[in-house]
Amino acid sequence: MTLLEIDLKKLEYNYFSLRKKLNPRTKMIGVVKSNAYGSLSGPIAQKLVELGIESLAVAYASEGIQLREYGIQIPILVFYPPIESFKEIILHNLEPVLYSKRSWKEFVHQVSSHKKTAYPIHIKYNTGLNRIGFSTQDVEWVIEELKNSPFEVKTIYTHLAQTESPKPDIKTENQISLFKEIMQKHDQSVKQKQEYHLLNTSGVFNYPEYHLDWVRVGIGLYGFANHRSWNESLQPIAQLKTNITQIHEIKTGETVGYNSGWKAAKNTRIAILPIGHADGFSRPYGNGKGWVLINGRKAPVVGNVCMDMVMVEIDDINCAEGAEVIVIGEGSRADEMAENAGTISYELLSAMGNRIKRVLKK
Ligand SMILES: *Cc1c(COP(=O)(O)O)cnc(C)c1O
Repeated sequence: MTLLEIDLKKLEYNYFSLRKKLNPRTKMIGVVKSNAYGSLSGPIAQKLVELGIESLAVAYASEGIQLREYGIQIPILVFYPPIESFKEIILHNLEPVLYSKRSWKEFVHQVSSHKKTAYPIHIKYNTGLNRIGFSTQDVEWVIEELKNSPFEVKTIYTHLAQTESPKPDIKTENQISLFKEIMQKHDQSVKQKQEYHLLNTSGVFNYPEYHLDWVRVGIGLYGFANHRSWNESLQPIAQLKTNITQIHEIKTGETVGYNSGWKAAKNTRIAILPIGHADGFSRPYGNGKGWVLINGRKAPVVGNVCMDMVMVEIDDINCAEGAEVIVIGEGSRADEMAENAGTISYELLSAMGNRIKRVLKK
């Protein structure tokens, strides 16, 4: 059976490892979107709360509601809320990120009609990623609107396009300098100190001089930091394990899988595993791009990945039906396999399907 083992001790290790890098006054937003990067958002969020994290973030309201229902009471940012989810955000005491004039006006309307005041919000500016965010020309508009708004601005931020690129990086420098101007304008407009943030996990490692008031860490909590040497201070929290369902002896010239995706060049053995593209072990891991570990040795995927199963060549690896298989774990890193298949650890992890049973190691 395929199991995803999630080690909360390693989460704790990563949390403190990241925390130690921060300026002592910098607070942490733990990003637990997409089921905590494919793991298990409730227990992960709960553990982060116990460790003392100041805030959490999800992408969409439904994910925040799930956490509230799990009993999480600390602030939860919603990074990408469509306007249709604003009502639910208020009902569950979530903190939306406002990113456009349209989202601003609609949230003013919703907050007012719920008769709320000083509702916590976050403001996002687009400084060059060109995803969501107020344009840099909107700062004056935002500042003016804030004067009579029913909001309490918790934080103001932007998102960088390439924090893992080697320094100096012109694009990042441009984004930071635009954000500094935004910070200055906001600071000048009010008496109380405003709180700002810029950085994701790679940014925490690459830009220690810009930790500011908050950082938004996701992948780092789960053990990856997009750079070999940064990875050294972290431990992957997830191990994906399964067992061999069946073994076949294959003769030279026989083919394996749909569309005869692979043809044996010699007599060999293959193992059939109960995981497929419906579980997030996607087609790009087929045809030797992906692998598993059996008895400490790498067995490459042969042929195309099926929806529910995958075939690997075990050749002379000493193993029998039922043997344990490590898909992702020590010796088979998610970031390495992802890179080999032309994607990134974020996608491999967050795509882990619901059919995979999660087991917590405490
Ligand atoms: C997902 C996300 C993050 C976390 O990024 P990591 O690279 O996983 O640390 C930070 N900020 C925003 C806006 C995000 O969407």
